[in-house]
Amino acid sequence: MEKLIEQLDVPHRCQVPLGPLTWYGVGGPARVLARPSSVQQLSQLAAGCREEGIPIYVLGSGANLLVADTGVDGIVVQLTDPAFRQLHIAGATVTVGAGFDLARLVIATARAGLGGLEALAGIPATVGGAIRMNAGGAYGDIGSRVQRVQVMDAAGHLYHRDRDDLVFSYRRSNIVARFILEAELELEREDAEELRRRVKKVFFYKKNTQPLAGRSAGCAFKNLMQLPDEAAPDTPLAAGKLIEMAGLKGHRIGGAQVSPRHANFLLALDGCTAADLEALLTHIEQTVLDRFNVRLEREIITWP
Ligand SMILES: Cc1cc2nc3c(=O)[nH]c(=O)nc-3n(C[C@H](O)[C@H](O)[C@H](O)COP(=O)(O)OP(=O)(O)OC[C@H]3O[C@@H](n4cnc5c(N)ncnc54)[C@H](O)[C@@H]3O)c2cc1C
Repeated sequence: MEKLIEQLDVPHRCQVPLGPLTWYGVGGPARVLARPSSVQQLSQLAAGCREEGIPIYVLGSGANLLVADTGVDGIVVQLTDPAFRQLHIAGATVTVGAGFDLARLVIATARAGLGGLEALAGIPATVGGAIRMNAGGAYGDIGSRVQRVQVMDAAGHLYHRDRDDLVFSYRRSNIVARFILEAELELEREDAEELRRRVKKVFFYKKNTQPLAGRSAGCAFKNLMQLPDEAAPDTPLAAGKLIEMAGLKGHRIGGAQVSPRHANFLLALDGCTAADLEALLTHIEQTVLDRFNVRLEREIITWP
């Protein structure tokens, strides 16, 4: 794979620790970390990987990722080049590259008097990662604003998907293409001062209800939309509540701990390893299954 990447002249580094590039801060190295400088270069890289059977991954801001201690034996792509971080505002239509920082986008659009993204205040993400995960919360999600995306499949083919054909649901989208490259968002003209207030309100709501300061990946498990028949009818739907009711708030395995503040956040304390977090995830899944007969679904993504 090193040969392929050198042939294509893609900016890259070898054996790069992925921990510092994720919010958990744990995990081993990527065999190759590549930062392509154009869509065409990414396309050539994807096609080459497909041909040679090399695994290829895409990393956003690492806010929803748990990388194994053994790392990733493949090519990890980051869309950090300016080619993937463009922002254009035309009327109420915003066209933004997948590598653009979501927090900056929320502020830039609010300042431009464009409403619709305030719900995303305080969510760490790149635009690509936010769309892939349909990031959102109590106030709404990004999917409701997406009109069109430019994507690339694992063989390097570029195409668009339009609103009629896009489905966003809770922390999920029907975009299966390997790379999201750019999105067109439809916003609404609103008063910039009022938007600033709303962004602040959402941000403080999040800060007051979630442990944003520790090393985490946000909610570890999806909140449950449906409970099995056997579950008590008054069982709350929130995964955090079930974890708390199972007596696991504050529970610790090695350096991994269930947040004492919000039971759906797992914290990586000093000395934490990916194995500690994986063991804690598994322990929570098993305990909640045994106690409530509910199978929790992970929201965080694990690599490889
Ligand atoms: C403190 C904290 C609070 C959080 N609060 C929330 C919240 O309120 N609501 C919420 O929804 N989430 C929340 N999260 C989780 C996280 O912010 C979101 O899941 C976010 O969308 C992840 O984006 P990212 O760019 O960091 O993606 P990453 O974590 O880097 O990647 C996540 C997945 O997206 C894929 N991906 C990334 N970029 C692309 C791309 N360009 N094309 C295709 N696939 C891509 C990756 O391959 C991976 O599968 C929180 C996380 C933290 C650490």
